[in-house]
Amino acid sequence: MNFAKEIVQSIETAEKIVITSHRSPDGDSVGSSLGLLRFIRSLGKEAQICHPDGCPSFIEWLKQGDEIIDFDTNQDRVIALMDEADLIFCLDYNGSGRLGKDMGGVLLAADGKKIMIDHHPNPEDIFDITASHPEVCSTSQLIIELILESGNEDKLNQSIGTPLYLGIVTDTGSFRFSSVTPRTHQLIGMLLENGVKQAEVHENSFDHNRLDRMKLRGYAIAEKLEVLKEQEFAIVALSEEELNRFNYIKGDTEGLVNLALSIEGVTVAALLTESDGKIKMSFRSMGEIAVNAFAGEHFEGGGHMNAAGGVSFLSLEETIDKLRSLIPLHFGKSHA
Ligand code: 5GP
Ligand code: MN
Repeated sequence: MNFAKEIVQSIETAEKIVITSHRSPDGDSVGSSLGLLRFIRSLGKEAQICHPDGCPSFIEWLKQGDEIIDFDTNQDRVIALMDEADLIFCLDYNGSGRLGKDMGGVLLAADGKKIMIDHHPNPEDIFDITASHPEVCSTSQLIIELILESGNEDKLNQSIGTPLYLGIVTDTGSFRFSSVTPRTHQLIGMLLENGVKQAEVHENSFDHNRLDRMKLRGYAIAEKLEVLKEQEFAIVALSEEELNRFNYIKGDTEGLVNLALSIEGVTVAALLTESDGKIKMSFRSMGEIAVNAFAGEHFEGGGHMNAAGGVSFLSLEETIDKLRSLIPLHFGKSHA
């Protein structure tokens, strides 16, 4: 029996299914979760998506009703659902820590069968089924393959396909990263044939910028962007006070680190944002420069070679100082 058929059989025999994904949701975590949820429903089964925290505003339009509940605002319900579940999907993450400490602990304690479907390298050995495909651009693409390989191509309709389309778009920088293959485009073609309206997806997701968001981006680029020429490294750091000045909501800094990376002569970029006494760090790089290893070694993080994240519990100033002192040791032409 192929992997996909085994997974679908697990769905068909399960009583209570929960779908989880990583903290700080993005297009792929939300897209793959919604695509899988709707596929499960098309098989006549029920499921509940439980994410650690709320979804960024640009994705809100994808959700219907209470398809997604989050641990931060519904802790008791999420704990109960995960405790009772006999099947738990773990999408777009490779270890329990990516759920955050508390929800990660709930996952580890849960008895349900855990099926991981993900494209990050180095999965932890905590799942009952591990479908780990770092060579694939997105978890959303893996969900499409699951639907096809299990012989359910007829189920791949607009409702299931739309979140999966958005997941692929966001994780590939709109089809530009080297993770995109001819297969990605074949599957996208299939989604369009089955009713996904790509112009609507892009407009709904990317053409509803709040004025505050645009002003925050303008401020970040005009006032806060620093380029270390020697090391080809761009840094943008925003304090909580600065974010509040522009009425920051989740998702407002999305894409900013890619913009920093796009500067001529820059091969690595970091975005630091302060919230609730900690600093979230986003890294992007070009070519063979591995920011996941850097984030893992110094900032309790990880991710993909060219897109990674981490966290710092130092102050923003101290984190910037730490980063600045590490950059010459890791980046620049002498390290090529
Ligand atoms: P972003 O910068 O968009 O938040 O994250 C980029 C990528 O880095 C994500 O797809 C994820 O793989 C990874 N990532 C982000 N934050 C963390 C983190 O705190 N820990 C780990 N292990 N990976 C992260
Ligand atoms: Mn992903």
